[in-house]
Amino acid sequence: MYRGGGGGGSLKGGGEIFDRKRIIDALDKHLEKSSPSTSKKPPAAAAGKQHNHLDHRDTRSSSTDESETDSGESDVSGSDGDDTFWISWFCNLRGNEFFCEVDDEYIQDDFNLCGLSSQVPYYDYALDLILDVNTSLGDTLTEEQNDLVESAAEMLYGLIHVRYILTTKGMAAMLEKYKNYDFGRCPRVYCCGQPCLPVGQSDIPRLSAVKIYCPKCEDIYYPRSKYQGNIDSAYFGTTFPHLFLMTYGNLKPQKPTQSYTPRVFGFKLHKP
Ligand SMILES: [Zn+2]
Repeated sequence: MYRGGGGGGSLKGGGEIFDRKRIIDALDKHLEKSSPSTSKKPPAAAAGKQHNHLDHRDTRSSSTDESETDSGESDVSGSDGDDTFWISWFCNLRGNEFFCEVDDEYIQDDFNLCGLSSQVPYYDYALDLILDVNTSLGDTLTEEQNDLVESAAEMLYGLIHVRYILTTKGMAAMLEKYKNYDFGRCPRVYCCGQPCLPVGQSDIPRLSAVKIYCPKCEDIYYPRSKYQGNIDSAYFGTTFPHLFLMTYGNLKPQKPTQSYTPRVFGFKLHKP
């Protein structure tokens, strides 16, 4: 159902985090100059959507590696319908495997978005883009404006996502992904391939990147993919894995019984 794995070539390259920083800096500057409510609204949604359609096809056709979770995923883009197109597209980008698809209904409820309009530049356009609202504001969007709005949409989606995954529906979506090993496995040998959960070291955007939490050894690790390592901590938050394991108590594994013992010529090392 909500499976992000596999993916393929993203439209953004390896220097993505720097690009994002540059774009976000540009957004900040823009915000200082003029508030979104008074500035001219760029026709982001329409042009952005068309742009995304093309990127989406590229993503699908160039899918090659990360085949661990690829099998049987041929239906990822079809079943959710056109009304969630941006969200499906976004969640299937390489590196975005940790994101679940947030329900349209959840996003359309203003109560759930409380406080976000002051955190995200181009808020209205970003929201339209996420919801695939065709605002028909014209088609004169420049490449740079398109980038700014897409970046804002990504940030807005992340900040909605961190709230959504603490709800019953969001947790159920993350449970599907957990069962599918979408968040990877613990690299520690004695955790025996324990599936992990995404966790943030901070709830404040742009302070750190997402990590994975192993419920068995109760430690955190870098995600395997460098693309995943570029995702903001704040899009998953510090609470999620722990609330998840409280909610689904049966999934909490036993503590590992074995631990590694260093030896030299078969003898344990003396610890001073
Ligand atoms: Zn572990």
